[in-house]
Amino acid sequence: MSVLVIAEHDNQSIKPATLNTIAAAQKIGGDIHVLVSGKACGAAAEQAAKAAGVAKVLVADSDSLGDQLAENLAAQILAIAGNYGHILAPATSVGKNVLPRVAAKLDVAQISDIISVESADTFTRPIYAGNVIATVQSSDSTKVITVRTTAFDPVATEGGSAAIENLSAAADSGKSTFVSREVAKSDRPELTAAGTIISGGRGMGSAENFSVLNPLADKLNAAIGASRAAVDAGYAPNDWQVGQTGKIVAPQLYMAFGISGAIQHLAGMKDSKVIVAVNKDPEAPIFGVADYGLVGDLFDVVPQLTEKL
Ligand code: FAD
Repeated sequence: MSVLVIAEHDNQSIKPATLNTIAAAQKIGGDIHVLVSGKACGAAAEQAAKAAGVAKVLVADSDSLGDQLAENLAAQILAIAGNYGHILAPATSVGKNVLPRVAAKLDVAQISDIISVESADTFTRPIYAGNVIATVQSSDSTKVITVRTTAFDPVATEGGSAAIENLSAAADSGKSTFVSREVAKSDRPELTAAGTIISGGRGMGSAENFSVLNPLADKLNAAIGASRAAVDAGYAPNDWQVGQTGKIVAPQLYMAFGISGAIQHLAGMKDSKVIVAVNKDPEAPIFGVADYGLVGDLFDVVPQLTEKL
């Protein structure tokens, strides 16, 4: 049977997480269909059709689908779910909101946050903040799966030429209404898609001190992240938090300044390709996962590093 991937998009373009999810679908095997459900979402559908490995793009276009309300998107997925053996979405806020509804309606088990596909019915997923990897085998006829995007390299954005097919849109459930959205604006790359991340922890000492990281992030075109302690202390905004209860990231380069390396922080960044840690405590656990560690005061190190770069 074919695999259905739920595209995450803003009606204009598909989010990179969709490309990682298509890569996970490829490991399952079979034709890959991508559902683009939105309002005036033709541009996003065209982009999905160009992604490598996609056989067909299904487009559901209506006013009630424009804001990705979970109830309406779930209804759209359920309208076609019977054609698929697997339904995949990225384990993002949208995917985590929608797919459990789909699984419940289909009366199957939701399989969350997979990091590998062992076979068409067997997957691995981290539990206990990544300290244990569970192997999960499902005998359900439809497997409803969210994908940890950092565990799968994205497919190419170009190279595909999938057919685009229009679906009739599911009726508005009327159960929820879109009110407003506040999107944090930043000139920096988005945290979960950035190739380089500069993160600060409680060791930064204050919100003002956090700005020490800006010139370094500018030099490296990096996103800025933070530990939960830094966020809770008001040094950094919520959406910068990396970790178990923050964002899961796996950039090419992750630099941690004044972060001790609690397991809940490591759960969000330990799959980064190269980890650099600067901490004045030589016993800090972050050095256990760091490829390069420097024992020193970040307020000396960061300006020197920025100048050298
Ligand atoms: P600290 O542990 O206080 O470490 C600060 C470090 O800075 C120290 O190692 C110190 O040596 C160093 N330092 C101080 N001054 C300097 C200086 N001038 N130069 C260099 N180094 C310096 N945490 C997360 O980060 N993300 C999460 O998603 C998350 N989720 C959680 C979920 C749960 C259920 C729980 C219970 C906890 C969670 N935490 C999370 C919190 C986590 O346990 C730690 O408390 C937190 O990560 C600590 O942040 P920190 O390393 O910045 O602070």
